[in-house]
Formats: sequence, structure tokens, C-alpha cells
Amino acid sequence: MSQIQQIKDATDIVQLVGERIKLIRSGGSYKALCPFHSEKTPSFFVSEQLQRYRCFGCDETGDVLDFLQKYDGMTFAEALQYLSERTGIKLQEFQRSPEDDLRERLLEVLHLAKEYYHYLLVSHQVGKKARAYLKDRKISTASIELFQLGYAPPGWDGLIKYLHQKKKYSLEDIQKTGLILRGAGGKYYDRFRGRLMFPLKDHRGRVVGFSGRLLEADPKEAKYINTPETMVYHKSQLLYGLKELFAEIKKKEEVIVVEGEFDVISSAQAHINQIVAIKGSALTREQVKLLARSVKKIILSLDADEAGAAAMRRAIEVVGDTDMELRVIDLSSLEKGQKDVDELVRTNPEEWRKLAETSVSVYEFLLNLSLRHHDPTTPEGKRAIVKAVGPIFGQIPHAVERDFYLKKLAETLAVSLDVLMQDVERISRGAAANRPAAETAPAEEISGGRREKLEKYALFLLFSVKEFAQKLAVLQEIPLKSTGFLQILEAFAAKKPQDKADLRILTAGLGEDLKQILFDAVYAPQFQNMQKTFQPEKEWSQTLSALKKEIAREKIEVLQAAIASLEQKAKRTEKEETALSGLLRKVVELQRQLH
Ligand SMILES: [Zn+2]
Repeated sequence: MSQIQQIKDATDIVQLVGERIKLIRSGGSYKALCPFHSEKTPSFFVSEQLQRYRCFGCDETGDVLDFLQKYDGMTFAEALQYLSERTGIKLQEFQRSPEDDLRERLLEVLHLAKEYYHYLLVSHQVGKKARAYLKDRKISTASIELFQLGYAPPGWDGLIKYLHQKKKYSLEDIQKTGLILRGAGGKYYDRFRGRLMFPLKDHRGRVVGFSGRLLEADPKEAKYINTPETMVYHKSQLLYGLKELFAEIKKKEEVIVVEGEFDVISSAQAHINQIVAIKGSALTREQVKLLARSVKKIILSLDADEAGAAAMRRAIEVVGDTDMELRVIDLSSLEKGQKDVDELVRTNPEEWRKLAETSVSVYEFLLNLSLRHHDPTTPEGKRAIVKAVGPIFGQIPHAVERDFYLKKLAETLAVSLDVLMQDVERISRGAAANRPAAETAPAEEISGGRREKLEKYALFLLFSVKEFAQKLAVLQEIPLKSTGFLQILEAFAAKKPQDKADLRILTAGLGEDLKQILFDAVYAPQFQNMQKTFQPEKEWSQTLSALKKEIAREKIEVLQAAIASLEQKAKRTEKEETALSGLLRKVVELQRQLH
């Protein structure tokens, strides 16, 4: 047995998927809302017996290795490595690429750096000032542990000494993590100095970079600096706090998006712990994709200025056609000094909790923002407001919601809806001309004729009827047309099956392609749904007879075509005459079978 198979066999896909998304038992399998497309009723199935998953909505399908690659964003090698560690089965022959090795080393370096900074913060004399600073900001010991905060001392080469001299990592490797820089004279030095350190973790919990905040104000240095883009750190994919607070975020099915690390930590301390921070002010598609797996609602809490409004318009676009709801925490009513979430939580946690609960729709927020800047009673003001929010409202995906906001806008401006719509359409047309056409995938049609459907149903029924072995033999007598069916039945027969079908035993050693075909029949939702009332034995005999009739009908069609072509001939040879009467006899015989 190959190592890959061995590792797969030792892993339970139901357990692994269940650790990531909520699975509900359903008949012989488990179902869930699909993590790969957005939907309201579950069409994603995981089979314990086949050890595969399949979405009947978007057609995503695969085994446990495919799932890790698609859901966790691992490469094939990483997925295999992950399962090898999980199952304790050591990989021997597997060839890792030099790039895999390098990535692994960089992650090790980053992990060690986190340990180093954390140790200095919590246990070393050099971290005393940083500890006092955190105490002053009311950051608890529990938070320091949860977020693994650290301290980078002011010297030039503390980290280099630790990672290079003590832990023996090469300077080139360390440089590739962004932790150290090379000066003009060719000498390396630490990037982060005299800073409080926030480890940045990816959604799998691996440290991929850092954000460092200057401990003592220095006009020559930036208050915050971050790891630059590296092989493992990608700013656009990072959500600070997602790993640490994942359980809460998943439970509440919503997430508040803020801009700073301290905002996340303080808010979590105030028990508003469904929160993450983004780097920079715009939510990216990658981040939305990550969030779509666990939340239904994204609540933005960004600065209420023009940059914040631009970020919200961008968010509307990226959240776009997902089913997630986009809301905004309106901080504009607060005193000037409190507009910072961290500041607000420290001075007035109750107020923050209230605001978090009373978020407004992003459309409402943009309208209010526009009304603060323009006067809706003057023609110039009306025009500016329509220009700012009209096209956005005109493109709200849900018709009822769209209608609501357009009417609200018309009322606010004291114009008729018709007049407003003329303007909205004109502005949208202008904007659309500058936008590339959206990619649309053609809806895939359900393929297969009547015969394929009957064959699939028969295969499904085989697992519901009594006397499996005998019925299997019956089904094998029928010339099934669907791809792979005969091979599947042959493989079953080779297992010398008992009367009760055990999918797991029957499919052991079956290729993944055949397993997938089987999955489609055995877990097809249209069959599963009617299972409560049906009588399998009766369905079985009806389906088999319908299938035989269908096959006869197809044969008749072929024969009739041959007959027609012979009959069309003006003159037939004797041989042809004999053939024709033979064909006719066959048709009559088949037609008798049909009735
Ligand atoms: Zn799907």
C-alpha cells in the first residue's frame, strides 16, 4: 500500500472536516453549508464510508487531501505532511521540493522569533518597561498569552545572535523572513528594535510575520512597522485575531473588522471577541473568502472619514455577491478623542458594546455620511448625494433591499423615484463603461438521459434493498451504460459480498474516480430526500423493469433506424430482404417485451 493511501486510511474525513465546519448527520452521511460557495440550504455532503466530500450545488468534490488543499490553502505536500503529523505515520519516500523546505525553514525561524520576543517580554529584565507599558494600557496577562505578545529589545543584533549564532539558521534564510535587514556595509541588523511585538498568524495558526509598535516615541521612527511581503507573509490574506478568536467568531457567525492590533485585544478583553484587524484600510477578496467560511455578517468599524468611506465602497464590492451581510459600526456620534476603538474600550467599554450591537447597514451608513457633507435641500447638494450613493444603491443585489434604499434616497432628496432612477441609471452606465465585464460561469446542466437516471437510481437502491449479493448479480446482468458502473459492480462482486451492503468494505481499494461516481449515486439529494416514505423493494423491482424497458426502447429505436434506411431503397437485394424481415421480427419481439 502506498504511503499516501496509508495516511488517508488513518484519517477520518468526517472528523477533519467537522473540525472546520459544522456538520449535521443526515442519513448515512453528513451535510453542511458548502464552504466553497455561499448557500442557504446545505448541499455539501461528507461520506464517512467513501471518505469523500461532494457539493451538489457547486460540484466541488474530493478526498481528505483535496479538502485540505482547497479549504486550508495547503499545497499537496503540505496537506500530506499535515496528515502525516496528525496520524503519526512518518513520510519516507515523499519528495519535497526545495521551495517546500525553504518555506518550512522560514516558518521555523518565525516561530522561534516569536518565542524569543515573548520570553523577553514576560520573563526577562529587558522587558520590564514593556510590561509596565502593557499594564498601563490595561492589557491582561491572559491577553499577552493568548496573542503571544513579545518585546524586541533596542539593540541591533539581539535576534540575529539568537537565531543565527545559537539556533544556527543562515543569515540568508533569516533575511527572507523580513526579520533582519542588510546594511550598506553588508552587515545584517534586526528590523524590529525597541518595539512591542504582535505575532501575525495565518488562519492555520502559523506565525508568518510581525507588527511592531514603538515603545517610546521617537520622531525619527514610524510608530508601527510590519513585516514586508515575503514568501509566507501576504498582507492581503492576513486577518489579525482570526486564529486566536476563531471559536468565538464561528459561534457568533459574525465578525467586526477593525484596523489595529490593540483594538482587537482590548475589545476581546471587553468580551466583544468576534473581532479581527486588517492591515491597511481595505478589506480584500482573499480576506472575505476566509471569513465566508465561518461568518454570515461582516461588521466594519473603520474611520468615518473619506478614506473610511472609500474602504466601505470597496467592501461592498468584495462582499458583493456572497450572501454575507455587510454592516457598519457608526463611531461618528462619539467625542473626538474616542473614535479609536482601543481608546473607547478602555474608557467606556459599555458604550463599545452598545455600538457593536447597534450596527447599521452599510447603505444606511453611506447615506448618512453623504448627508453630513452635502445639503439635500439644494440642487448641488442633491446632485452630489445622488452621485455618491445612487449607483451603489442601484446595484444592491437583493431586489427588496434595493427598492427600500432607493425609495429612502428619493424621499430624503424630495424627488420622485422615477426621476431618481433616471439619474442612477445614467451614472451607472457611465461607471459600467469603465469596468471590465464580470466573469459569469454558465450554469451547468444536469446531464444524462432517462436511462442514465434509472441506472443511477438502481445503483442507489442497491444499498437500500435486502439480499445485496443477489441483487448485485441481477444488476450485473443488465448492460449498464453509465461510465464506471459496470467496473464498480465488478469490484463489489470481487469482494464476495454478504447480504448486507457495507460501503466501506465494498469500496476498499476502489479508485477515487469510481468512488466519486458512486458518491453521486448513493448520496444524490433527490434520492435522499424521498427516503422516508419509500419502499425499497418495490422501488427496486419497478426501477429494474423500467430500466429494462428503456433499454428495449433504445434498441427498438436503433432497429427502426436500420429498417427505415432499408425501406427507403427502391430496390432491395435478396440478402437485404432477409435482413429487413429479421429486423422487423426483432422489433416485434422487443415490443412484446415492453408490454
Ligand atoms: Zn458548494
